Amino acid sequence: MDGKVCVITGGASGIGLASARRLASEGATVVIADLDETRGPEVAEELGGLFVRTNVADEDSVKALFEQTVAAYGRVDVAFNNAGINPTEDNSILTTGIEAWAKVQTVNLTSVYLCCKYALEHMVRQKSGSIINTASFVALLGAATSQISYSASKGGVLSMSRELGVQFAKEGIRVNALCPGPVNTPLLEELFAKDPEQAQRRLVHVPRGRFGEPEEIAAAVAFLASDDASFVNAATFTVDGGISAAYVTAE
Ligand code: NAD
Repeated sequence: MDGKVCVITGGASGIGLASARRLASEGATVVIADLDETRGPEVAEELGGLFVRTNVADEDSVKALFEQTVAAYGRVDVAFNNAGINPTEDNSILTTGIEAWAKVQTVNLTSVYLCCKYALEHMVRQKSGSIINTASFVALLGAATSQISYSASKGGVLSMSRELGVQFAKEGIRVNALCPGPVNTPLLEELFAKDPEQAQRRLVHVPRGRFGEPEEIAAAVAFLASDDASFVNAATFTVDGGISAAYVTAE
């Protein structure tokens, strides 16, 4: 990753943080784009990169993120569009109100549209780039423990990534959707740490018998970002411990 400039949204925590560390360890220059004005600058300092306070749901903020990246480093090679939310007020369609629905759509899906749009402006000019959009295993599987807007937003991320990968392939740009299984991050811990029964209800479906670790997702991000993945495009890249392939798991 030597010399590659990588923008990571949600880079202050969880999967984004582990990926920033992994990419930086391989020689990349990282730009941490996050709402978190405490952790964001700390992570950027730790990794010798740049923090840009960004709200991925806001068009001007996203446009400025990629402009500032190019102003600082001259190019953008990788856009890891990863920031997302999973609020508890988004649950069954019967109880999820339009405001909760809309908030999740904006932060999880409109954000990816914006980040792709403004990353692509630079990548098309460069005639190179790798975009990785974080979808989820819930874009592939249904859950009775519903989070209706979250699942719908991730389905949108998956199909948008596929379409962009097809559209821009001849311009030297790859666009892939990453579909992590359940991963031990603050986002998941917030949901299940207080409720082991809820966690167990999910764990039974994971063939591997445990949740993933952020570093295991970061390894896939490092691959998709790199030239080793030069023929991986418009893919649904699952890193889920086998959950999306399972019917009955071992006892
Ligand atoms: P996390 O909560 O640990 O980190 C998310 C980061 O995004 C935080 O630093 C937060 O400040 C930032 N963020 C939130 N809203 C933002 C906004 N509007 N603008 C800029 N930054 C914002 O979450 P995570 O578990 O690392 O999740 C990262 C991505 O992976 C999300 O898209 C999530 O949906 C997806 N995902 C997570 C899991 C899992 O089990 N953890 C599974 C599949 C997919």
